[in-house]
Amino acid sequence: MSSIKKVLIANRGEIALRILRACKELGIQTVAVYSTADKDLKHVRLADEAVCIGPHPSIKSYLNIPAIISAAEVTHSDAIHPGYGFLSENADFAEQVEQSGFIFIGPHAENIRVMGDKVAAIEAMQSSGVPCVPGSNGALDDNEQRSIKIAREIGLPIIIKASGGGGGRGMRVVESEDDLADSIRLTQSEALSFFGNGEVYMEKFLTTPRHIEIQILADQHGNAIHLGERDCSMQRRHQKVVEEAPAPGISPELRNKIGNICAEACKKINYRGAGTFEFLFDNDEFYFIEMNTRVQVEHPVTEMVTGVDIVREQILIAGGDKLSITQDQVEIKGHAVECRINAEDSITFMPSPGKITQYHAAGGLGVRIDSHIYNGYNVPPYYDSMIGKVITFGDNRNNAIVKMQNALDEMVIDGIKTNIPLQRKIMTDEVFKKGGMNIHYLEKMLGGEE
Ligand code: ADP
Repeated sequence: MSSIKKVLIANRGEIALRILRACKELGIQTVAVYSTADKDLKHVRLADEAVCIGPHPSIKSYLNIPAIISAAEVTHSDAIHPGYGFLSENADFAEQVEQSGFIFIGPHAENIRVMGDKVAAIEAMQSSGVPCVPGSNGALDDNEQRSIKIAREIGLPIIIKASGGGGGRGMRVVESEDDLADSIRLTQSEALSFFGNGEVYMEKFLTTPRHIEIQILADQHGNAIHLGERDCSMQRRHQKVVEEAPAPGISPELRNKIGNICAEACKKINYRGAGTFEFLFDNDEFYFIEMNTRVQVEHPVTEMVTGVDIVREQILIAGGDKLSITQDQVEIKGHAVECRINAEDSITFMPSPGKITQYHAAGGLGVRIDSHIYNGYNVPPYYDSMIGKVITFGDNRNNAIVKMQNALDEMVIDGIKTNIPLQRKIMTDEVFKKGGMNIHYLEKMLGGEE
């Protein structure tokens, strides 16, 4: 039993439902908060209490800190789960939640702050022994000669990245020294307008890496473990489309080596809760790019192969419990694949909000659907287009993919367009079926856009 009795879920959609389910299993009361566009969300109906926190623009509801904290006060909640996106990586929010007397289900504000600043994050990770991409080791200044010298040392091509960046924005690849100064200036000004922070840094541009990330869990008693890795190389415009666990071709030795480095780094920085170390993987080497201080969209693939309920652990850790498992008890078994289902045209990628007139979910052994949609549900146009995830689990990778092909064939979502046709294409693609593709493969498969 958790010491937490009532959780306010500061999110929407599938992750809000995921958190509600975990709370119900733990016997914890739930409070849903929602915008006026979201009164018919499934978790709003299922929660013990629900509070409308504002109109549809996120800034007035899901990003409205005073409204969320007031909702926690009036409902006598004792903890707030931020989910992913929205306020989940906002250090000021975490701080204000705790200053208002609630438990923040996530890491300390200080950890969120450091990891949100990529220059500071890389510095912290380097000093904790985590391998990073060769780079400028700090922000770039206006000294053109110095930047050219750094670029020569690293070797072109390089990538200029915004320290406050996120969502795949604020990055620019530089192939030639002549373009360097202009590219730095451009990225700085973009970074300032996108993220309110003009600081940029330089990294070696790895031309054909894979994206492999390590899931960690750390409690407040000095314990930290890793739950192995996920391969999220199937990306479009730096956004993940398909994820899987384990990553093809990663040996148990390599997994444990990098996993233990991440767990040790968590202990060093006094990290608490769930987190993900994102790496680029090239020539059998891991290079840290960033840490996400929250639950991730793709957490279910790790849950399927380890049997560990990550959201449940997050809640228990926040309530002061010790981790329910030790590193020795973590065993990676079988293979899991996740397809993100988006309300969008599968060729043009244009969002396709609207009313779902028919919905039939896939089923069967090893098929998991994490989604809030139902017959008659109206997908609002105001938020992220992801309407759910199909996750399959099999004895091996091929089996998980075959189950996914069947599951996608069974799914019926009428009334709106979805990317299911694209996911079907991916699941039957010969290169994908072999595994180990690099981060550019999906765009190449789609016909070399961008
Ligand atoms: P964001 O926080 O915006 O997601 P990341 O640092 O995680 O930014 O990078 C997002 C994606 O950009 C990576 O998954 C990868 O596809 C690409 N990328 C970032 N850094 C590099 C690099 N040094 N070399 C090659 N690709 C990179």
